[in-house]
Amino acid sequence: MSKEYCDWCDGVVEEDESLSDYEDMEICAECWYDLHFFCCLCQSEAPEVQQGKIGNCIAVTHARDLGVKIGLYEIVEHPYYYYGYVFMNLYKDSIRYIGPIPDGIDTEGYPMGHLCNECSSKLKSIGAM
Ligand SMILES: [Zn+2]
Ligand SMILES: [Zn+2]
Repeated sequence: MSKEYCDWCDGVVEEDESLSDYEDMEICAECWYDLHFFCCLCQSEAPEVQQGKIGNCIAVTHARDLGVKIGLYEIVEHPYYYYGYVFMNLYKDSIRYIGPIPDGIDTEGYPMGHLCNECSSKLKSIGAM
């Protein structure tokens, strides 16, 4: 019986667990979850490499916590956030305001949410009106 190993954590994969593809690697379910995020607009799963990518969008839903006004922003450079004493804060010069929060955004209680490649380019092309 040959054992299967996760390409990311080198952990042994249980027999009832199937490996998932990630960037040409075979990874276990736990790593898959760590390496993915859910887009706060379409709620679909996207690889973590898309999260916070330059050109992608973030939705700020609780301005008080982040030091910028509520709205949809495009990330224009890194780093775009830092950890303050209590909350994560955003660098105002690293993000560009696009418009108000579009309908359907759900950040699940977090002050900020990330959007996937697809939603980001869709919203940027229509100017998020
Ligand atoms: Zn793993
Ligand atoms: Zn999306």
